[in-house]
Amino acid sequence: MNIDNGRAIVGAVDPQVQPRYAGWTTFARLPRLEDVAQADVVVVGVPFDSAVTYRPGARFGPNAIRQGSRLIRGYNPELDISPFQVCQVADAGDLACNPFDIGQAVDQIAAQLTELLSNGTRAIILGGDHSVALPSLRAAHAVHGPMALVHFDAHLDTWDGVYGADITHGSPFRRAFEEGLLLDRNVHVGVRGSIYDRKDLVEDAGFGFSVITCRDISSLGSDGILERIIERVGDAPVYVSVDIDVLDPAHAPGTGTPEAGGMSSRELLEVVRGLDAVNLVGVDVVEVSPAYDHAEITAIAAANVAWEFLSVFGRKVQR
Ligand code: MN
Ligand code: MN
Repeated sequence: MNIDNGRAIVGAVDPQVQPRYAGWTTFARLPRLEDVAQADVVVVGVPFDSAVTYRPGARFGPNAIRQGSRLIRGYNPELDISPFQVCQVADAGDLACNPFDIGQAVDQIAAQLTELLSNGTRAIILGGDHSVALPSLRAAHAVHGPMALVHFDAHLDTWDGVYGADITHGSPFRRAFEEGLLLDRNVHVGVRGSIYDRKDLVEDAGFGFSVITCRDISSLGSDGILERIIERVGDAPVYVSVDIDVLDPAHAPGTGTPEAGGMSSRELLEVVRGLDAVNLVGVDVVEVSPAYDHAEITAIAAANVAWEFLSVFGRKVQR
């Protein structure tokens, strides 16, 4: 335990006492939210995948990411921060949501996240399919107002509903823009592959998005992508949504809607780390579906994405 500004900070389990493969599987073996007086930053699971259109299974994502986070240590040399020492970080467990009713689940998720964020706590949401970004944006909007969205994904996710459902994992950002949760300074990163029609891109631009494709990533590199993102969002409050299928299936086989030709884990981690430069207010990491994973490749990548965001939040708390 550390004392910071007279406040006790409860740290991760000491690996000198218990090896990293043992003990509670909280994220990075952090304390549970109920074990600390308050938390500056929480990791929270949203085990919901009833809005997918292809492979199911992301309801098991949060616990797979926790398992993939066991090797995460306390210091981030790239960002020069020990997030678990400068602020209280905790694992808030999983939210309760109805697997048989998308609308009810979305309302449940929004209500629980709104309560979690109400005292200034920052949250990293572990999905779940991408529909959970909508209630997460609603909860973040209640605190921060309209936000710029940085969206890492192979897909646009600004499509309309399908099969009679307005909210699916392909529609969260169309709905979010319609609800006034987003500004018109949004950007997709990592888009690739076939889409339904050229007009999808025209509609997408109407929801305030510019697009950085995987082709652009080859020519711009991580630093060039970051420049484009920072220029796009400016000083707006920024919500970042990471669909793990932004990674190439070689780097993330365990996902619901895989597309060939994606980012590498290294590229994604570099860009995420660079988001230290924006006014980051909310984060989700979604679409990890462990039944299709091998050797925890996807879960470890997702856990490290969350770790970089924890480090960015740590630096903001420290400032
Ligand atoms: Mn996707
Ligand atoms: Mn998505």
